[in-house]
Amino acid sequence: MPKKVIMEVYFRSEGLCELTGSNYRCEQHHIVFRRHNNHDPEAVINLGWHKHKGNEGVHGKNGHALDLDLKRGLQMYYERKGLSEDEIYIKMGNKFYDTDKPINGDVERHFEKIWQLYHEKEYVYLN
Ligand SMILES: [Zn+2]
Repeated sequence: MPKKVIMEVYFRSEGLCELTGSNYRCEQHHIVFRRHNNHDPEAVINLGWHKHKGNEGVHGKNGHALDLDLKRGLQMYYERKGLSEDEIYIKMGNKFYDTDKPINGDVERHFEKIWQLYHEKEYVYLN
């Protein structure tokens, strides 16, 4: 991942979990699997241990729903942004997720915050 994306996500999150505000063992997580090369800062989220590698975290044994919700939230964000279906398909790792069902409230609030940050406050990407 490019250094500027790491820095971007670090500053955006202030080093805290972007779902809970926890400061416990936070790490950056790629919402779309790394090998798909989506290096948008929006596709990376800073997560505390409990939402990342703990049992209820995206990589944990009970975390599959959260993992899917992050992917669905990201896809809905790209839809809101007005990207074409082809662009979204590529950014999502050659997949479309079902965005009809409601998603986790923390995930929804995260992407609303991301939207406001990047689209409504004339936010300037670090570079
Ligand atoms: Zn991860």
